[in-house]
Amino acid sequence: MQSMDNNTLTQRDLRVLWHPCTQMHDHETLPLVPIRRGEGVWLEDFNGKRYLDAISSWWVNLFGHANPRINAAIADQLQNLEHVILAGFTHEPVVRLSEQLVQLAPKGLSRCFYADSGSAAVEIALKMSFHYWQNRGEKKRTRFINLTSSYHGETLGALSMGDVSLYKETYQPLLLKPITVKSPDCYYREAGESWADYSTRAFAEMETALARYADEVCAVIVEPLVQCAGGMRMYDPVYLKLLRQACDKYRVHLIADEIAVGFGRTGTMFACEQAAIAPDFLCLGKGLTGGYLPLSVCLTTDEVYQTFYAEYATRKAFLHSHSYTGNPLACSAALATLEIFRDDDVINRNQVLAAHIAHATASLADHPHIAEVRQTGMILAIEMVKDKKTHESFPWQERRGLSVYRYALEHGALLRPLGDVIYFMPPYVIKPEEINLLAKVAGEGINIATTK
Ligand SMILES: *Cc1c(COP(=O)(O)O)cnc(C)c1O
Repeated sequence: MQSMDNNTLTQRDLRVLWHPCTQMHDHETLPLVPIRRGEGVWLEDFNGKRYLDAISSWWVNLFGHANPRINAAIADQLQNLEHVILAGFTHEPVVRLSEQLVQLAPKGLSRCFYADSGSAAVEIALKMSFHYWQNRGEKKRTRFINLTSSYHGETLGALSMGDVSLYKETYQPLLLKPITVKSPDCYYREAGESWADYSTRAFAEMETALARYADEVCAVIVEPLVQCAGGMRMYDPVYLKLLRQACDKYRVHLIADEIAVGFGRTGTMFACEQAAIAPDFLCLGKGLTGGYLPLSVCLTTDEVYQTFYAEYATRKAFLHSHSYTGNPLACSAALATLEIFRDDDVINRNQVLAAHIAHATASLADHPHIAEVRQTGMILAIEMVKDKKTHESFPWQERRGLSVYRYALEHGALLRPLGDVIYFMPPYVIKPEEINLLAKVAGEGINIATTK
C-alpha cells in the first residue's frame, strides 16, 4: 500500500474529484483538508493536526466519529446481511427500526417509507401527498406552499420547495412553482417584540395564502423551528400550532421536514413536540444513523396509507422505490443511535450543554459586527453584519464568512459558515471546554474577518 500524506492525497483528489457545494476553482488557493481518522468530536489529518467538528460533518453526526457502540452494531449486522431488496422481502433491522420510530414520532404517524437521502424523503412526501389527493379524486390539487429562506434538498422537486436563491436560481426553468409565503424568521422582529408575537404576526400571510389557494394545494412544507440552510433562521413554536390548525381547517397536508432538526437538535427529540403537533408527513434523515450511513424515512398516517390500500387493478399503489431502500447496515446504525438516546438520557443532558453554549457565546452579542446571537437547543447562530444598527450585510463578494472558515481551520476547528452566519451544531458528545474553544475561535475569526 502506498504511504499517504496530506499533499499527495490532496493532489490526487483534485485530479479526479468534483466536490459537493464547491466552486472547485477556490481550491487553487483554499487547501482541501484530508482526513485520516476521526474520534469523538475530533477529525485528524495525516500530520496529526486535529479539527473540532463543530458542524457535525454537515449536521449528520450525533454521538461522535468512530463511536464504539454504533461501530459494533454495524460490524455485527455485517456478519449476517449487508443488503436485501425491500420489495417483497423484509429483515429484522428495518422492522425493529420502524417499530421504534412509530413509537417515538408524534402521535398518528404509523407508517415508515424509507429512502437513502433527505432529498429523496422530501420527494416521497411531495409525491405521496399529491397522489393521496389524486386517489381521492381531488385532481385540481397540484401545488405546494413553502416559506421564504426554506431548504428541502437538491433534487428537482425538493429544490423547488426551497427558497435559497444561491442553490435554486439557475435551475428555475426546470422547477415546480410553489406558493411562497413569508417565513416567521424572528431575525426580522421589531425591537422589543417577542419571538412568539412576531411568529404569530407572520402567520397572517400563511392564513391568507391558505384561504386563497386551498383548493389547488396538496400540502404546506416547513422546517420546524429552525430553517437551517437558509441561515439558521429561527422561529417560535406557536407558528407550528397555528399552521396545524389552519391545515386542518383548509384540508391541506402538513409536511414537517425534520431532516436537520430531528433527533434532539432543537432540545426535544423532534421539533414538532415543542408545538405539541403532529404533521401528516414527517421527513427524517441526517442524524437518523448517527451520521454513519445514508438513510432517510418519510413517516405518514394510517389515513394516508389507507388511501393507497386497494385492489391492484385500482392503480392506487405508491410505486416509488430506491435501490438501497431500508438498507440493513444503515438500519442497524439507526437502531444503535436510538439506543444511545435511551441509555444516556441524551435529551436531558443536552439541556446542560445548550446552556453552556449560551454562556460561552454570550459576550459575542456586544460585538460591533454581530447583529444577533440566536439559539434553539443545540444550534447556535451568529449573524455577522456590516452595520449592527441597520443590520446591513457585508457585500457577499467579500466572502467574510470564508475568512472565518479559514481562521478556524488554522486554529483547529471546522466551522463552515452559511454566508456570513457562523454557527455551531456540534455532536452531542462535545465537552464544555471544547465549547469554550469554539467560542474563542469563532470570536477571534469574526474579529479578523470584520477588520480587514
Ligand atoms: C440536508 C437537508 C435536506 C436534504 O438532505 P440530503 O440528505 O442532503 O439530501 C432536506 N431538508 C433539510 C431541512 C435539510 O437540512
